[in-house]
Amino acid sequence: MSGTELELIKEAFESNWIAPLGPMVDAFEQEFSKAVGAKYSLALSSGTAAIHLALILSGVKTGDEVIVSSLTFSASANPIVYLGGKPIFIDSEKASWNIDPDLVAETIKNKEKKGILPKAVVVVHLYGQPANLNPILDICNEYGIPVIEDAAEALGATYKNRSLGTFGLLGVFSFNGNKIITTSGGGMLVSEQKDLIDHARKLATQARDPAPHYEHSEIGYNYRMSNILAAIGRGQLKVLKERVEKRRYIFEKYKELLSDLPGISFQPETPWGQSNRWLTCIVIDEKEFGATREDVRLALEEENIESRPLWKPMHMQPVFKDCEFIGSGVSEMIFKNGLCLPSGSAMSDEDIERVVQVIKKVQRK
Ligand SMILES: *Cc1c(COP(=O)(O)O)cnc(C)c1O
Repeated sequence: MSGTELELIKEAFESNWIAPLGPMVDAFEQEFSKAVGAKYSLALSSGTAAIHLALILSGVKTGDEVIVSSLTFSASANPIVYLGGKPIFIDSEKASWNIDPDLVAETIKNKEKKGILPKAVVVVHLYGQPANLNPILDICNEYGIPVIEDAAEALGATYKNRSLGTFGLLGVFSFNGNKIITTSGGGMLVSEQKDLIDHARKLATQARDPAPHYEHSEIGYNYRMSNILAAIGRGQLKVLKERVEKRRYIFEKYKELLSDLPGISFQPETPWGQSNRWLTCIVIDEKEFGATREDVRLALEEENIESRPLWKPMHMQPVFKDCEFIGSGVSEMIFKNGLCLPSGSAMSDEDIERVVQVIKKVQRK
């Protein structure tokens, strides 16, 4: 937390707006829209809820196919299954580690030949890294397929100087505890289209029709953010820029300190945008480095330093084993050799150096 959140929570308490909705939620939505340059924002109980609603608004129904990145957190894909849809997992491209635009285009064209187009494409901006959006948007526009941006990890990151999440029909953000800013739990759905956000707002509030009694003409959800959490969000939004600068600094510091070691590469910076460097991720080439990712992870654990493998690709997950996968093994390679280094905003230079020393020791063995 940055310090201003408690004041805002106090304000919410003093107004006695504790229940979901309230003036803090309205203010958070407005400030968020301004921060990312979106026209309309809807504060929700989680990023997963935002993806679920985005898929509903894109018209996904039972049996529909939805294209999604394979190298991601399961929450990008789970809501497709909530709706009875079928995920088609697409491999990463090396330049960004995000969904490969050529494979997206190839898949859409192959599906067209079979006579059924995918209902939506979920583009994930992995670890805050902007995906190669333009070619994806081009092919999707050509075929009239809505793009949903899963920017859950990517608040504060840009594509061609514009905030991620504002390019697709709908954009999704998360304020889960581990994200770059947090409300302890929460999410945001953004769009340029008022009708979509109005509809999502209704669906997220148990789909109440406008009537003095409780009238329902569609199935609703209880997905709104509480006024108290929105107060935390407003405080956190004030430090977003600092957080991004710090995360990017941590990335650069690791890069500098590890530059003399062979066999370590970083998630690349793309020519089309700027990552928020939510997490600093490396790939270890076992042959060049002389040790595996697991050797490094375990050596760090010995020193009570937590690091984690990257997301395990969805097409390798038991729960998605029957789903279609299009790719050639890029995401598998990144997963096998990839490691997320400690990247918390509170890390000091000494903390980073401590991590680096352990990695260097493993290499010398
Ligand atoms: C965290 C995350 C989500 C889900 O957000 P929650 O707020 O935790 O529900 C979705 N997609 C990605 C890529 C994430 O990292």
